Amino acid sequence: MKREKKYSVLRENLLEWYDKNKREYPWRNTTNLYQILITEILLQKTIASNVRALYEDFFQKYKDFSAIYESSITSLQSDIKSLGLSKKRSKTLKDLSEMIISNFKGKIPGDPIVLKEINGIAEYVSNAYACFGLNRRTLFYDVNIKRIIERVFEISTNGNKNEFVNEQLDMLLPHNDCKHFYWALLDFGSIICAKKNPKCQICPISDSCHYFLII
Ligand code: SF4
Repeated sequence: MKREKKYSVLRENLLEWYDKNKREYPWRNTTNLYQILITEILLQKTIASNVRALYEDFFQKYKDFSAIYESSITSLQSDIKSLGLSKKRSKTLKDLSEMIISNFKGKIPGDPIVLKEINGIAEYVSNAYACFGLNRRTLFYDVNIKRIIERVFEISTNGNKNEFVNEQLDMLLPHNDCKHFYWALLDFGSIICAKKNPKCQICPISDSCHYFLII
């Protein structure tokens, strides 16, 4: 199969699978940029179901950056305790809210690269926000997306892993509507291409998967 054709078949199969198997999360149905950005911080290093469990109460209490800014750090920490890393996470939320209020009059700056000045907001959150909130085509991956790519494509033994993952992701990602493709990858990595016991026998892309072909 020609190289480009392989990526387009993978993309189509993943999107087709996603269409029938997608997980429903409240943050996938909002256009509220504040909620989209804060949710990406809440989702870091925790499982999505933990965030879903507190999502409504959290945004009911913290309706905007001012609410986070004005809250006490101990109360914020207690409200997100179930996610883990609550001390570090609440400091990130407070610092971010202070920056947005003091420097940007309460509005998230158009160029999300500025967000990376905040300790705790790295490439992933900034790029995920740009994609999910602003519909931009950005490259970012977590351990689940990385695992799928490293299984599906064969990396040369002397290659740089991160560069390799970025390159493959760039080839796989559609030119438009990237957010649905990222959600497809995230759901696929959780349901089918899981860390332990991947469900290769029912996998819609096994025909093109290097890992499957060598096991
Ligand atoms: Fe993952 Fe197996 Fe599918 Fe390959 S065939 S993508 S390893 S589930």
